[in-house]
Amino acid sequence: MQRIMRQINALPWGLLLLFEFAALVALLLAIALMLIAQSRSLPNAAIGDGSKRIALSFDDAPRGPGAFLDVDVRPQLLNAALNRAGVKQAVFFTNPGRIDASNQAEQQLRDYVHSGHVLANHTATHPVLSDISADRFLADIDQAQTWLKPEKGYRPWFRFPQLDEGGKNTVKRDAVREGLKSRGLRNGYVTADGWDWYLESLTIRAQKSGKAINQSALRDLYVETHVLSANFADRLARRALNRAPAHMLLLHETDLAALYVEDLVKALRADGWTIITADEAYADPMGELPAPVIADANGTLIQMISWDKGVKGPRWFERNEVSVMKRLFNERVLRVP
Ligand SMILES: [Zn+2]
Repeated sequence: MQRIMRQINALPWGLLLLFEFAALVALLLAIALMLIAQSRSLPNAAIGDGSKRIALSFDDAPRGPGAFLDVDVRPQLLNAALNRAGVKQAVFFTNPGRIDASNQAEQQLRDYVHSGHVLANHTATHPVLSDISADRFLADIDQAQTWLKPEKGYRPWFRFPQLDEGGKNTVKRDAVREGLKSRGLRNGYVTADGWDWYLESLTIRAQKSGKAINQSALRDLYVETHVLSANFADRLARRALNRAPAHMLLLHETDLAALYVEDLVKALRADGWTIITADEAYADPMGELPAPVIADANGTLIQMISWDKGVKGPRWFERNEVSVMKRLFNERVLRVP
């Protein structure tokens, strides 16, 4: 050992520095190679930036009465809640055919825009495509455009009522897809759906029949179900697309949204989600993919793509099911604390 030390000591300083420099370069090279190897061995799930990003959308504005709130007060509460939660830009898929002199809907929609949110087309009167002809459906879309297009905050996006794109009637489905294209409208698809409309209808029914509703349990069920739906959609999307896309969550302009959306946003953030704008969500390349060709085109875009591709693993969120949601509602919300 001493002899080695003597030999090293005998080396000129310049040579020693050169050795050290070479060792440092070798170390850095090794680290770089290790990182490259690691990134190559990462599963597809981590492709992209690995983050969870989601935007919020609210359908059916202005929507009919819910269980708790005055319909003229509800939009103000929802708008204020989104502001408090720091949601910069949600999208409201509107039904302008429901605006009339008896309500304050027009002003309320403009108030959303004033807060930074945007408006898009959900037909004028909310017909379901499977129930009517493609021509009547497109006429209803045009009627909505007449009000929407001059509005500040208008976006050329269209969302199918009940996400019904014509079901098994592919001729009708394709006619409407062509009609949208010729109008410069793109599909305002959703990727995550927690069935808030069904939770709302269970709540209204319980309220009407005089059952005791545990509101904090209702809030928890609403929040939890939507966080689960977002995570389900994200896992499915990573399997289907080999990357982490920007998501769009389906919500409706309900009493539950006005009362609980702030808690939902908090819970999503605590779970690692970033709330993005609707513009950011619809800039995702997923929207440019050829429209899914599955015969029964009804559901979230992620589900449709997954069915098209035959993606392995569950393709249906377990709470998008009447019996499951009813059981959870009865067990948790109707139980007296
Ligand atoms: Zn709707």
